[in-house]
Amino acid sequence: MNFESLSLPKTMLRSIEAVGYHEPTPIQEQTIPHVLKGSDVVGCAQTGTGKTAAFALPTLQRLLETANRPTTGAGQRRKRSHRRVIRSLILSPTRELAAQIGASLVTYGTFTGLKYTVIFGGVKQHAQVKALNSGVDILVATPGRLLDLMGQGFVHLENVEILILDEADQMLDMGFIDDVRRIVRQCPKKRQTLFFSATMPEAINSLAAWTLYKPMEISIGLRVSPADTVEHALYPVDAMG
Ligand code: AMP
Repeated sequence: MNFESLSLPKTMLRSIEAVGYHEPTPIQEQTIPHVLKGSDVVGCAQTGTGKTAAFALPTLQRLLETANRPTTGAGQRRKRSHRRVIRSLILSPTRELAAQIGASLVTYGTFTGLKYTVIFGGVKQHAQVKALNSGVDILVATPGRLLDLMGQGFVHLENVEILILDEADQMLDMGFIDDVRRIVRQCPKKRQTLFFSATMPEAINSLAAWTLYKPMEISIGLRVSPADTVEHALYPVDAMG
């Protein structure tokens, strides 16, 4: 299997080649065709398996495909013609992961012309608001800052076509599950949803069932151990004092 056979556009294949990927990882091979077809996907996969590209590449392609289609429910939704609106929302539990996803969008989306920005808490909001006001197609966000900026009227989710929840189990562990539900409720019911989690405890299963519509289920590798590409080391240190 190579990237050419996954029906990705030439521009994106150029980016993939430039970054030095020769063949898709198993999660990419299994996820990309379903996302391109418009299906919801629930992926049980860990960091290090190539899951970011598995959702980012086909999302970019779908957004390019639908860029010129008229919106459904145009009466209720913001018009796209004059200003970019958020068409894909990627929720991430931590600022580090959000930043990594943002960096991946730069890598994979170089030739797409789509605009994105990353928002997270712990920093002043001014630059983030400025970026949002200039118009973005894809928003990568941590839940707390997103709700904050939604509350202030800087973020509107009624045009989201593709919603991605990354590392859902970490969002649960960090106590974000109610925030995630509040955010999902603000997205259109008619949307494509991609849901990734390294583990699938009951609470995550029920969140997935609530969020997804007839999803394709994809499971890569062991669910409990870290990915092979993650190295562990133990450094004993003296007790303080
Ligand atoms: P992720 O699981 O998305 O955090 O990706 C883990 C690492 O794998 C990142 O450094 C990616 O750049 C890299 N990666 C993703 N897809 C591929 C691929 N098809 N071939 C080689 N490396 C990849």
